[in-house]
This record gives sequence, C-alpha cells and structure tokens, in this order.
Amino acid sequence: MRTRIGLEIHAQLLTQTKLFCACSARYFGAPPNTLTCPVCLGMPGALPVLNRRAVELAIQVGLALGCEIAVVVAFDRKNYFYPDLPKGYQISQYERPIAQRGSLEITSAGRRTRVRIRRVHLEEDAGKLLHTEDGKTLVDFNRSGVPLVEVVTEPDLATPAEARLFVEELRRILRYLGACTGDMEEGALRCDANLSVSEGEALGRKTEVKNLNSFRAIERALCFEEERQRRLLARGEKVEEVTLGWDERRGEAFPMRSKEEADDYRYFPEPDLPPLAIDRGWVERLREGIPELPQAKRARFLSQYALQEEEAGVLADERALADYYERVAALSGDAKQAAGWILSEVLRLVKGRGEGLAEIPLSAEDLAALVGAVRAGRITRTSGKEVLEEAFHTGRPPEEIIASRGLSRIGEDEALLRVARSVVAANPQAVADWRAGRTQVIGFLVGQVMKETHGRADPKRVAALIQGIVEGA
Ligand code: ZN
Ligand code: MN
Repeated sequence: MRTRIGLEIHAQLLTQTKLFCACSARYFGAPPNTLTCPVCLGMPGALPVLNRRAVELAIQVGLALGCEIAVVVAFDRKNYFYPDLPKGYQISQYERPIAQRGSLEITSAGRRTRVRIRRVHLEEDAGKLLHTEDGKTLVDFNRSGVPLVEVVTEPDLATPAEARLFVEELRRILRYLGACTGDMEEGALRCDANLSVSEGEALGRKTEVKNLNSFRAIERALCFEEERQRRLLARGEKVEEVTLGWDERRGEAFPMRSKEEADDYRYFPEPDLPPLAIDRGWVERLREGIPELPQAKRARFLSQYALQEEEAGVLADERALADYYERVAALSGDAKQAAGWILSEVLRLVKGRGEGLAEIPLSAEDLAALVGAVRAGRITRTSGKEVLEEAFHTGRPPEEIIASRGLSRIGEDEALLRVARSVVAANPQAVADWRAGRTQVIGFLVGQVMKETHGRADPKRVAALIQGIVEGA
C-alpha cells in the first residue's frame, strides 16, 4: 500500500501593516481588538487597499520555491460563515494566484524527493476565538486581515517523516527570506495535511487533518491517520473524505466535518480590488534580493569548508548563525576548527541562556582570536573553553581574559618540570606499578599534573616529562 501526503501551509508575512488596511500586523500580545479598523472589521462600505510589501514577500516565496510568477494576479472572495470572519468571506486568490508550478527537494533517510508546489497565494487571516472557562466565546479581531501566504503542494510526500522534513525546510526558507518568523507556537506558521492510502497508482480517498501547530504534531497526526486508513482498507472498508482535527494530548485525530469542495465556497472575483499586473522588472529586482537559501548554503559549506553533512546542516539552519560561522572561519583561517568551536561550545552556551542565535554575545572577531590562540598552541583547548565561557558571560575580549588569568600555556620550563617531579614523588605506588610493566598508570600521573596546572599544560609534553623522570630515575 502506498501513502501520499499533500500539504497546505499558511505563513503569516512579516509586514508592518495588515494585508488590506493600515492596522499593525504585529498583533501578538496586544490587548484584544485594539488593532482594528472598519476594513479589517468588515464594516459595510469599507474598501481594501492592497499591501505592496505583502505582494513582494509572496513573490519572493514563489521564486524561492522555483515557481512561475503570474503576469496578472487577482483576488477572490471565499465565502463561509464563522464568527471569526467578520465579512462572511475571506479575501483570497483562486484562479490567478501569485505563483504556480514550483518544487522543493528534500532528503529523507538518504532518499531525495522532489515535491511539486502547486501554488503560492496571498490571503487574509481571520480573527481569533477565545473560549472562556464559563462557556462563553469571545472574538479578537487583531489577527483579522494579517497577510498570509499559502503554499500548497502536490501529494508527493510518501511518509509522515517526509512531510515533517518538508515543513522544516519550508520554514527555514521563509526565515531566510525574512518573510515569516516561522513560530508555530504563536501560530505564525500553520499546517494542514491531506493523506490517502491506496493499493495501486490511483490516488486513494483522502482525509485532511487541520491545524497542525508543531513539527511533532504533523508527524504524529499523519502516522495516526495513515495507520487508521490502512486498517480500514485492510478490513475492506472505505475511507470517508472528512476533515479531521488533531488532539495532541490524546494522540488522536477526530472528525470535525465532511470535507468541503471548492464549490462549497462559491468563490467569485473580489470587486473591490482590481487585478494586479506584475511587472517583470519588479520580479527580477525581487529575485536579486533573495539571499543564498539554506540548501545552497549547506551544499557550499560541504564543499568549501569540507564539513560533515550534520555540521553543515546545523550551521546553515539559520542565516544569522551561518553568517557568524563564515566570519569566524574567514578571520581564524581555520574553517574546520571554527565549526567545531561553534557546534560544541558556542551553541551549548547559547542554549544555556535560552535565547535565540541572533544575539551571540561573543563577536566573530573575538571567537576567531580564541580559535587562533588554541590553534597556535598559545593556550590549551581546556583553557580555551574556560576563556570562551567567561567571554560569553562577561563580554570581555578573550585576549584580555587570557592575560589576566595567566593562562598562557606553561611551556617546557622549570615550573612544569617541578610539578611533574612532585607528582611522581607523591605517587610511589604508581611509579612501582609502571616499573612492573603496568605502563597505563602514566594516564593517572599525567592527570595529576594537569590537575595541578589547571589544564594549562600540554598533556603530550607532560607524558614525555613524566616518562623521562620515571625512567631516568
Ligand atoms: Zn484594519
Ligand atoms: Mn487558506
């Protein structure tokens, strides 16, 4: 049996104002119904004015997904009744979407899949219903009219894991473009998925799972639905075309309503917005404004810096981190070491602070200086980690910390020899063991010296010194 999954992803565009009015689109955390006007409240006679920036971002999303950009786009009314929709219709796009026929490639378990993009269109978000504990329902129209870009795929995904990867990659692209925060918890990125299971080539009857608001929910809900359909078909029963909701707590999909068809929405042209001709020069300028996208960046990191797949994946996950990495790599002249320090130390410290990557408190210059100091052997790796941690928390330049803490590596001087001699003298049993042929005790002795010198000595050098002392004595 073969599973086929298609996705519809809604992403809130990062514009200052709403799609058809001058109200602020940054509604998160604002008191209810404070960011509204006659247009987004659907008052009779209020006229929509299209937000140019929203169109630009939608075009860039289309271009990033390899789509053809329409020459003329038009808006339509999608009619349905729901209390969060003040006009009784949503302004969306039906026959003339902004972009069509693109694709996005994903790699899942070593297998590459080209997922076709059916369309990318613009539409307005609805308001938000709030259900109180005493059974009342309140409505907040701050979200009403916030611009959304909707990305619709063909049913080219074969597994729930692939569906998750697709949304992760799309989110990365949207964030690279600065088109959407991608914050699923805040509802800035929302996913509906349709799934069918069939015996042969023909598509089976599909169901749609609505409002999946985390990567985990996408994968779990689709696994649940795939399993449910397989069991039905195995028993010789039919799958009913329904719209399902997902109960994350119970781990179950539940039927919400029978699935609606396009006809049910009675789409018709929006008479208050004339069709918009998209100038080709404008499209080309927008294309030039697209940064290197995550897939291209990962591929370049692999070849240019000889990184592992995993390293390149993490470093290219966010544009800010990728840029930071490249600056450290260039300044330190050692791309491999730069990657190692960022992946093992910097990211750990960033996570510890529970903040985003955008504000790494250690400048690329300072990290590069530190990587250089370790690489040149001026300080040990262990000291380097301490310096990094202190620089991270205090913002002091690493060079200053190295100097003030006297961390410069203890060389082959009297001091180190003195410590090694005293460790050997203090451990006669270990020395006796060594002479009896149990040479592995050297590890213990080296460890003692490292402890005494607070990790500032070169362990290889210490081993050689100890060997000299024990065997020469
Ligand atoms: Zn408004
Ligand atoms: Mn939609």
